[in-house]
Amino acid sequence: MKVAEIHCQSILTRVSGYLKAVSSHSLNPYVGCGFGRSSCGEGCYVRSNQWLMRGREWGRFVDVKINAAEIYLRTVAREKKWARKDGGCFSVFFSSSTDPWQPLERTYRVTRRLLEAMHEVPPDQLTLQTHSASLLDDLEKIQTLSRICDLRIHISIEGDRDRLDGLPPPPCTLEERLTALRKLADLKIPVVACLSPLYPLKAPDAFFSRLSRIGIRAVVIDHFIYGDGTPDGSRTLKTKLPRAMARAKPESLNLSYRDRIARIARKYLPVGISASGFAGHYSGPGQ
Ligand code: SF4
Repeated sequence: MKVAEIHCQSILTRVSGYLKAVSSHSLNPYVGCGFGRSSCGEGCYVRSNQWLMRGREWGRFVDVKINAAEIYLRTVAREKKWARKDGGCFSVFFSSSTDPWQPLERTYRVTRRLLEAMHEVPPDQLTLQTHSASLLDDLEKIQTLSRICDLRIHISIEGDRDRLDGLPPPPCTLEERLTALRKLADLKIPVVACLSPLYPLKAPDAFFSRLSRIGIRAVVIDHFIYGDGTPDGSRTLKTKLPRAMARAKPESLNLSYRDRIARIARKYLPVGISASGFAGHYSGPGQ
């Protein structure tokens, strides 16, 4: 792993494309991801972003934005003003192209310092998105932030299997992520399980029933078709993920599988689909 400490010029990125429906800004404390060589890294949508990759191999590099918190505080007033023009909302998606609680966070604590900066100047809405139960390292800060802004936690849980044959292990076990969901839900912090990209499920009824008993707010279901930014999933089709999915359940490669799973999930929980789900729009019980 090649690690570089970098000084960023900006940290709040005005969103474009897919994320426009989700937030006004994205925030990425790192470039690259230390989970890139685990299962989620195989189908990770970011690896097709040539601007970020710059010819490097996904999972083999991380640039650490060591001045991220300082730049947040220096630029937040301007970005908040921009986002709020025409009655908009200053909403931050943290993070869209890296994981805020990847292994290097324990060394550098860039994410932690950003959360501290947000205590000084909070966004209107904040979505924390991670694959890792290590976000519990910052539980106290997350709890206090949830009192001063509209905060929602998204934990990526692609399905009900810990491993998909043909892929490396996940960044964090399924049980660890389910435990994190439970801890957050018990503290009444809004938390959502994101099945993104949706893996073939072994027992969908049992899985969604379990999630609903944990007390999470909703699930988001996102297939790699459209989810990877292409209408036919062509970016993901170049990776090992589709073959692993097909081996477990061939029909999971079709978009209709997402819709079938969403119908089952709606029996138990509010469900959001793809970008609108990431934006917090759900349908189903209680909606
Ligand atoms: S944790 Fe997220 S950003 Fe990192 S490799 Fe996995 S999917 Fe990609």
